[in-house]
Amino acid sequence: MNQIEQIETDVLIIGSGPAGSVAASILQREKFRVLVVEKQAFPRFVIGESMLPISMNLLADAGLLEAVQKQNFMRKNGAVFLRGDEACNFDFSSQFTDGWNYTYQVPRADFDKTLADTVAARGVEILYRHGVTAVDFAPEYATATVEKPDGGKFNVKAKFIVDASGYGRVLPRLLDLETPSKFPQRAALFTHVTGDIRPEGGEEGKIWVCLHPGGAWIWIIPFSNGKTSVGVVAGTEFFEQYPGEPDAQLRAILAGDPNATKRLANMEFVFPAQRISGYACSVKKLFDERFVLVGNATEFLDPVFSSGVALALASSQRAAQILVRQLRGEPVDWQVEYADHVMQGINTFRAYVNAWYEGKLPTIFFAANRNPDIMRQICSVLAGYVWDKSNPYVTQADRALGLLAKILKSQNQSLVTR
Ligand SMILES: Cc1cc2nc3c(=O)[nH]c(=O)nc-3n(C[C@H](O)[C@H](O)[C@H](O)COP(=O)(O)OP(=O)(O)OC[C@H]3O[C@@H](n4cnc5c(N)ncnc54)[C@H](O)[C@@H]3O)c2cc1C
Repeated sequence: MNQIEQIETDVLIIGSGPAGSVAASILQREKFRVLVVEKQAFPRFVIGESMLPISMNLLADAGLLEAVQKQNFMRKNGAVFLRGDEACNFDFSSQFTDGWNYTYQVPRADFDKTLADTVAARGVEILYRHGVTAVDFAPEYATATVEKPDGGKFNVKAKFIVDASGYGRVLPRLLDLETPSKFPQRAALFTHVTGDIRPEGGEEGKIWVCLHPGGAWIWIIPFSNGKTSVGVVAGTEFFEQYPGEPDAQLRAILAGDPNATKRLANMEFVFPAQRISGYACSVKKLFDERFVLVGNATEFLDPVFSSGVALALASSQRAAQILVRQLRGEPVDWQVEYADHVMQGINTFRAYVNAWYEGKLPTIFFAANRNPDIMRQICSVLAGYVWDKSNPYVTQADRALGLLAKILKSQNQSLVTR
């Protein structure tokens, strides 16, 4: 029997999305040998195009911000929530937390390639069109089986594996770590369009989130290349009311919302509408002796507050920092330093996602008498600063949002009955 080829490295990173590139950048900077194995050829399409300002801190820390800033991506300085004639306009310059007041809207094919090319130029080896198909753990090392583009296989022996495989969810699948998300099944239908009639001046780059009268919500994300990402998210039963092919479905849904209709009156689809469903996922654990899960390989909640890339960068940064210390022989506590920290961020966003679908956040966003100080605190969460423990809308998100929605609702009712 032929002996299978084996190569050695300090850290094997599975996947070269934003999470993989941030980990690679930090570990390479600290002089560890890093190998990235990426299943696809880059550039490749992936959904998830609206960033949050906290990502600027995280990219800067990983030494990747300068490369991103050179790309001339659309500046995103806030988010506008719309419901018929009502609007709630967040500007990241009005925040509670001292953070970045802008970020970018990014076609992910370009963004992810920028990050990967930057780490590759610094000496990280990235094997494209190579997929990890199996793993094995020994007390002192981990071994991964990698499949080459021609179907041949070789082994990678590593001190540690960082699973940044996103929707591929390599270790959760191989190690039976998957656990169902508590969120109901929702789906998204999306495309890129040209002909978007954008607001002018400082409002051009904001994401629009339109509450559709039928119970769905729509994203409108403008890019600097003249295209705009447009998508709709709803429970699967909502889509059943719209028969036909995905293109016809998406057009009919957009035509049912007054704000989307106006803005997209001249739209042309750039590619046929795509559908993705069942994306909410969770895991039983985030780490073990010789591996850690980062980014979307951990838990993915929901697209509504554009938290995916921010959580991917934050978890990956944290994991890489802890791993550097572990590889140097220092004691580390993955549960406290990593899992608890990452879950704090995920759980804060979870409270906001729940409050959105339960109607509490729409009540707050579209209230007549919004308190500017509270809106600044909420704005910082929407900017991704979910580790700022001085913000009560972070530390007590569930309670604070529930209480506020209740007060605003009763104030609204007394206004109506007066
Ligand atoms: C409908 C929808 C809309 C969204 N909108 C937003 C948004 O506006 N803003 C936002 O921040 N987030 C959004 N997200 C979430 C976002 O897509 C993800 O959070 C983000 O892409 C996670 O990055 P990552 O680096 O963890 O994984 P990915 O970007 O998915 O990268 C993982 C990489 O791993 C590779 N890989 C997979 N399997 C293997 C294997 N076996 N071997 C080797 N490589 C492998 C893949 O090819 C891929 O390149 C959205 C998600 C959905 C479903």
